[in-house]
Amino acid sequence: MTSSPPAPEPGLRKRIGAPGRDMTRPEVPEALPIPLYDNHTHLEFEDGIDQLEPLESLDRAEAAGVRGVVQVGTDLETSRWSAQLAASDPRVLAAVALHPNEAPKLFARGELSAHLSEISRLAAEPRVRAVGETGLDFFRTGEDGREAQIEAFETHIDIAKANGIAMQIHDRDAHDEVVATLLRVGAPEKTVFHCFSGDAKLARICNDRGWFMSFAGTMTFKNAPALREALAVAKPELILAETDAPFLTPEPFRGRPNAPYLLPHTVRRMAETLNMPLDELCAQLAANTERVYGSWDPEEAAA
Ligand SMILES: [Zn+2]
Ligand SMILES: [Zn+2]
Repeated sequence: MTSSPPAPEPGLRKRIGAPGRDMTRPEVPEALPIPLYDNHTHLEFEDGIDQLEPLESLDRAEAAGVRGVVQVGTDLETSRWSAQLAASDPRVLAAVALHPNEAPKLFARGELSAHLSEISRLAAEPRVRAVGETGLDFFRTGEDGREAQIEAFETHIDIAKANGIAMQIHDRDAHDEVVATLLRVGAPEKTVFHCFSGDAKLARICNDRGWFMSFAGTMTFKNAPALREALAVAKPELILAETDAPFLTPEPFRGRPNAPYLLPHTVRRMAETLNMPLDELCAQLAANTERVYGSWDPEEAAA
């Protein structure tokens, strides 16, 4: 825990933001009454205005009552970096995987299996507590990439099971196929739908199977009543909260750069939707998160 935290290599940073978009950072909101965790974030992204360094981002998050994050890889480089950051900062745990939109590209270059072996090696590190994000994305990847996506998804499922760690699923326009794959090969004990995008029907399936549903800023959007319905249906012990930063900034800041310190906006909206006292929801979310990933505290994890 003493090595200095790695700054993202310039080449690792991907730029977001579009010309003309308001890219100023919202204020740090009032802190949540009970500290909790951001279940899914990408700290390596550059957002087009300032370079919010990972450590500063984590400091801001702490000030807002977000005491820890799961830093998620999407390819080999970001997965390695995520594992390094987690090894160097007690506020970070890592998830490692090849994103479903990356897998078909790697397959086409003949590199998929070598990269999966390296993900498998990283998954054994003590502060890597999830395989993710993996899954299926039929929105950005066409029919021709489907086979590679499914192959990569199944291998990631095996890696999560072999290491006894959680799995974070990226599911975009692919609910039925994701569920079918999980039922066919058997889901890891701790399976999380990251940025849950289903409706009440999928929430009921998750309830029945004991799969976790992680709600992102999308649940605050005006055009997302189905997500709020799903949240209301979800078993309280299966809900989680995340930012998926730098994307999906919650209202009232939709479109501006996201970071873990903005998670309270989503959590407050979740409490409203559930008609639940905020402190009770925060305690529930913190407990659920620790149940999925284990403790962030290096001492406790070693004990
Ligand atoms: Zn995703
Ligand atoms: Zn993500």
